Amino acid sequence: MALKALDIYKLLPKTNCKQCGSPTCLAFAMKLAQKQASLDQCPDVSEAARAELEGSAAPPIRLVTVGSGERRFEVGNETVMFRHEESFYHPPALGIIVGDDMDASALRERLAAISRLRFVRVGTEIGVGAVAIDNASGEPEPFLSAVKAAQSLDLPLVLMSRKPASLQAALAACAQQRPLIHAADKDNWQALATLAKEHKCPLAVAASNLDDLSALSESVKGAGVEDIILDVTAEGEADTLQALTAARRLALKKHLRSLGYPALARAQGDDPFENLGQCCAYVAKYAGIVLTTLYQPEHILPILTLRQNIYTDPRKPIQVESKVYEIGAVTPDSPLLITTNFSLTYYTVAGEVEASRVPAYIGVVDTEGTSVLTAFASDKLTSESIASFLKADGVGSRVRHRKVIIPGFIAAMSGALREESGWEVMVGPREASGISKYLKTVWRG
Ligand code: SF4
Repeated sequence: MALKALDIYKLLPKTNCKQCGSPTCLAFAMKLAQKQASLDQCPDVSEAARAELEGSAAPPIRLVTVGSGERRFEVGNETVMFRHEESFYHPPALGIIVGDDMDASALRERLAAISRLRFVRVGTEIGVGAVAIDNASGEPEPFLSAVKAAQSLDLPLVLMSRKPASLQAALAACAQQRPLIHAADKDNWQALATLAKEHKCPLAVAASNLDDLSALSESVKGAGVEDIILDVTAEGEADTLQALTAARRLALKKHLRSLGYPALARAQGDDPFENLGQCCAYVAKYAGIVLTTLYQPEHILPILTLRQNIYTDPRKPIQVESKVYEIGAVTPDSPLLITTNFSLTYYTVAGEVEASRVPAYIGVVDTEGTSVLTAFASDKLTSESIASFLKADGVGSRVRHRKVIIPGFIAAMSGALREESGWEVMVGPREASGISKYLKTVWRG
């Protein structure tokens, strides 16, 4: 738990010697509490106080990096239970499991399919975060071959095996990529902790309940492994979800260090929709890594969409650039529609215009990332702002006509906009779903 200034003050020397640059120890404590100073600035702090202060500065859920360089993801370092309290910062990585018992050509095809699991949604690229190679054969050679094949992907690796010999063979080929070793259990943890330490790789620990998991993470940490992932997967979805929630609560609210690591959950079962449902539940609460055998785009996109929605900070709306966008083979006679720069609004309008097959310009006015009604209500979308947008360089020159289509919800400003811009103002539909019909009938009519 982060200490308050007074708690920190009690641990300082209280001599007010000013060597830290602050006039008093209390002033320095206040800076430390706000993370505006470093403890190293005080030369006289005792070792005991240092240990306590540094411990309190550690995040309740450790930030763990899997992979290296461009091919990596970070999970953990979350500070709140619920998004409405602050925000969630590190989206869970979705890893796709492939077995080393697949024949070589099937494995190649599967890996190629996984490499294509990237999508652009509301202007942001989203995709899977890892490929997990399952040592289903139980043998080192096929595991090594599958790991080598998976190295061709631009993704971090998860090495799924309980067998030290298999892991040792694979790590010899890929340790520099810093894969996640999955997973240490009560029988193999010493050997796997040795491998993780030797190769400087993160290590997942797995147990059937949180008590055993807590004890195991302490043992592994005691063996010198710092980057730990907790595999909390239980028999069924409900139990896994309960373990995810309990582990997070114990780490954040009870400050239980042995559970202060990102959690991993594996979706189970052959029914794709059941598997997909589990993935979504684990993304929502509160996995750092979700592993699944699903690999079809129609199964993966909903999971990634949910993740994007949860990990988008609602206080910082995603925005598109304010400018004129061309949809289709536009000409100077094409219609010009006005909307706002809230990404979801723009992409909804753009999608409907595209579906109408009527080439059109979309003029995106800067409303600080708010939707039409919000912008209108807060005076961010006014007749003045639209008129000045129409007068800007490169807007009016796109079209020969002087007609602008505004969203139906802001029809009330038509008169003022006509006066201020000199353009003919056409009132479009209230909902984006009406755009196609509007362009085909009212505009072309
Ligand atoms: Fe207090 Fe240490 Fe700063 Fe001196 S250097 S004023 S002892 S906090």
